[in-house]
Amino acid sequence: MENLDFNLTIEKIKESRINQVDFSKLAFGQTFSDHMFVCHYKNGQWQQPQIKPYAPISLEPSASVFHYGQAIFEGMKAYKDDNDDIFLFRPEENYKRMNKSAVRLAIPEFPEKWFDEGLKTLLKIDKDWIKKGVGNSLYIRPFIIGTSTGIMASPSKEYIFFIITSPVQAYYGGEVKVKIADYYSRAANGGFGAAKAAGNYAGQFYPTQLAIQEGYQQIIWTDDTTHEFLEEAGMMNLFFRINNKLITCPTSDRILDGVTRKSVLAIAEKLGIKTEVRPIKVQELLSATEKGTLQEIFGSGTAAVISPISGFGYKGKDYTINRPADLYATKIKETILNIQYNKSEDSFGWRVKVI
Ligand code: PMP
Repeated sequence: MENLDFNLTIEKIKESRINQVDFSKLAFGQTFSDHMFVCHYKNGQWQQPQIKPYAPISLEPSASVFHYGQAIFEGMKAYKDDNDDIFLFRPEENYKRMNKSAVRLAIPEFPEKWFDEGLKTLLKIDKDWIKKGVGNSLYIRPFIIGTSTGIMASPSKEYIFFIITSPVQAYYGGEVKVKIADYYSRAANGGFGAAKAAGNYAGQFYPTQLAIQEGYQQIIWTDDTTHEFLEEAGMMNLFFRINNKLITCPTSDRILDGVTRKSVLAIAEKLGIKTEVRPIKVQELLSATEKGTLQEIFGSGTAAVISPISGFGYKGKDYTINRPADLYATKIKETILNIQYNKSEDSFGWRVKVI
């Protein structure tokens, strides 16, 4: 492994853009804070990183990422409590997952220590972009792209790792109605569905557009071989409450190992909710709906924490979920938010203080 001495150079913006931003009217992921973290990989190693003003970058048209999609990313958030202290939530899970994605896409791994120190320094510099209040946060988007020039189909020899950040408000997508996939697939056995690779998302846009035209907001992906097993949604893992048990499918080659998913499982157990991690079939969902034992479906992910699903469509027929008043989704979401915003004890040790 390369030399892990960390020599971060910092170039600060001349004049902050923060006064041009209306923090009460933020569209998700449209506004970016003053600085970004940048690290180049060349000559077989990661070079010394820099923090500099967020600005356009210049690449040759033949840069490998434009042709062969060697691109991976992460998604995480920073939170501010009432005392102006700043926290991350289980960041080491994201550092590790990015390197798992890197290995699968033949991208050199990025040293976790550099990721951690670089991110924390960036957050300290742009701390005013993180607003207080539950729901407000700074969305963090680390990503790596292959930048070698030349259009031969082989792994890039040069890469850039960036971290950009975007202030966001509580993400409320409204009630989500989903379509269960019976033809298209998101990922395949032996493929790279478990990696947070750009191509996984590009491939979902078209089937999702078709689902939107049919009146749904998202797709629940099923396994590519039989389409019988429920897997995950666009940017969320899935939970099904049947007979007061919370069921989620195991992660695999095809499914992203969500940080929120892991946290939901641990919190549910702590709240005394029975959980099961096992494959779950579309048929089981249909018969539970018929019998009235399906009580909830929700998605879990960094952006919205928990997204309740109001109903689903399968092979042209729509089904609604008769939900009880005391939703697991509500209880679990509140518990996670209280940990993230330093409003409760953190018996799991998930909160990491930045400043
Ligand atoms: N599945 C996919 C495909 C995703 O992109 C995401 C978002 N990262 C998730 C699940 C949820 O993962 P996390 O809880 O780590 O945000």
